Amino acid sequence: MNVANGMQDKVALVTGAANGIGKEIAKVFFDNGARVVIADLNLAAAQAVASEFDPTGARALAVAMDVTSEEQVDAGIAAAAARMGGIDVLVSNAGIQIVGPVDDFSFSDWKKMLAIHLDGAFLTTRACLKLMYAQQRGGSVIYMGSVHSKEASKLKAPYVAAKHGLIGLCKVVAKEGAAHGVRANVICPGFVRTALVEKQIPEQSAALGISEADVVSKVMLKDTVDGEFTTVNDVAQTALFLASFPTNALTGQSIVVSHGWFMQ
Ligand code: NAD
Repeated sequence: MNVANGMQDKVALVTGAANGIGKEIAKVFFDNGARVVIADLNLAAAQAVASEFDPTGARALAVAMDVTSEEQVDAGIAAAAARMGGIDVLVSNAGIQIVGPVDDFSFSDWKKMLAIHLDGAFLTTRACLKLMYAQQRGGSVIYMGSVHSKEASKLKAPYVAAKHGLIGLCKVVAKEGAAHGVRANVICPGFVRTALVEKQIPEQSAALGISEADVVSKVMLKDTVDGEFTTVNDVAQTALFLASFPTNALTGQSIVVSHGWFMQ
């Protein structure tokens, strides 16, 4: 068993990898020898990330992909696999946040949230599983859950519902994928100070009628053991461990990385 160099020459596709957590995961995989596919809605930003990692393009490829589009996911993953030599690791990470109380939440925003978080996870999983099964060299599927895969917070109904749903999807993929050596796991981060969270601070301040400083200390980090944000690298190192793990012993699991906010 060798976790240490498990990414060497693997091909990893990360959705939402032009920014934030996804970008750091792609960087850590790249630094550990993987070929990486930066799949994102924002092609220009994805191309900038790919050329930042590898200006030659040999080991980093940008792909335009809206994860809610069946056509774009299927075409983007097929093109990436053809160019990079298959897909060994999928990180289904693309996500957004829209906050508001349930009684006032628009149906269109509800559907938008579920489309990105759940439809996107399903579509990318389906496309990658077909390749992984055909390649016959196993694989690893990692879903970006959240502490909100386990816990609830006010104002986040569709996010909490979708992130809980990812654990169900993961468990089914773990059972179906096992015969093909494909593992599936969920990472559940606490608050990470990316653009997604920066946007929420003033929104929650307005919705809850408290200061932005109080949103951070009394809402976001209130239940952590040390009042600290989780970092993109904390999450990326967990992804590296899960992606590199060599056997079906670690599958169907959800790992919380949250400074103790949530303890199982
Ligand atoms: P981010 O806003 O920094 O980056 C998200 C990326 O996803 C962007 O590059 C964006 O262009 C891309 N994207 C958005 N919609 C897309 C779509 N339809 N198709 C393809 N790409 C799309 O966000 P982040 O904080 O890095 O979040 C990444 C994931 O981590 C999300 O699933 C989020 O729910 C999860 N998460 C974040 C935190 C946190 O505190 N930041 C905590 C737990 C879980």
